[in-house]
Amino acid sequence: MAALNRLLRASSSTTFSSRTCMRRSLSSAAISETDSALSRKPLPLNRDPKNRNIQWVFLGCPGVGKGTYASRLSNLLGVPHIATGDLVREELSSSGPLSQQLAEIVNQGKLVSDEIIIKLLSKRLEAGADKGESGFILDGFPRTVRQAEILEGVTNIDLAVNLKLREDVLLEKCLGRRICSQCGGNFNVASINIKGENGSPGICMDPLLPPPHCASKLITRSDDTEAVVKERLRIYNDLSRAVEEFYRSRGKLLEFDLPGGIPESWPKLLQALNLDDHEDKQSAAA
Ligand SMILES: [Zn+2]
Repeated sequence: MAALNRLLRASSSTTFSSRTCMRRSLSSAAISETDSALSRKPLPLNRDPKNRNIQWVFLGCPGVGKGTYASRLSNLLGVPHIATGDLVREELSSSGPLSQQLAEIVNQGKLVSDEIIIKLLSKRLEAGADKGESGFILDGFPRTVRQAEILEGVTNIDLAVNLKLREDVLLEKCLGRRICSQCGGNFNVASINIKGENGSPGICMDPLLPPPHCASKLITRSDDTEAVVKERLRIYNDLSRAVEEFYRSRGKLLEFDLPGGIPESWPKLLQALNLDDHEDKQSAAA
């Protein structure tokens, strides 16, 4: 993996083969040849070879599967998947300098401020740099333009991947979420099979069913009702348009319409990012 990271930063014209290989060089010119329906525009990757790092953010509605794809890519590219929600939970369970302050905020049901999130994030990025981490994939941040601006002052972001899914499908997926009350496992009982019409493609997504020992213990989160989910999506859409525009205007936004579940989406996402994953093709359905 270290070799891959070196290559990502090194000359863009090298061809090589390894478990994970870049199908072509990561230069914008090469990427613009990938003329699939999903990536008509040249991919906004950093043109400066010195900065050709994986410093990515993942944008997308709650329920779209950001965490899943960010986590898969982080494994593939050998960079950490940093979810700001996890940073808050880790700090809370530690005796770190912010843990007491955080506990008070969370106990009072207040929102954790941008300043605290960015402090935790900066600390995490510094620790990572000390350990020799060569990049990151951020998940859950930034959610607002203000956060994007603060982040810009802390680190350089190369790419913002915006995962999108049809709203009717997203709603159905969110309403299908179930949690095992015993082990905390996350499942989804929604089986989506929408036929294509008027030239728009259909979409199929298999449910993520629990193993037999969890099946009788499934519960639905109390805030996963249609009204609450719709409101959550509305708020997200309002805030996200400006964040998308923030990255679009900097030439860093990659729009990606999820064509279905993981088996359909993962190979296409890799293609849009100009990445290849030989071994994972077979296990995409896992
Ligand atoms: Zn369980």
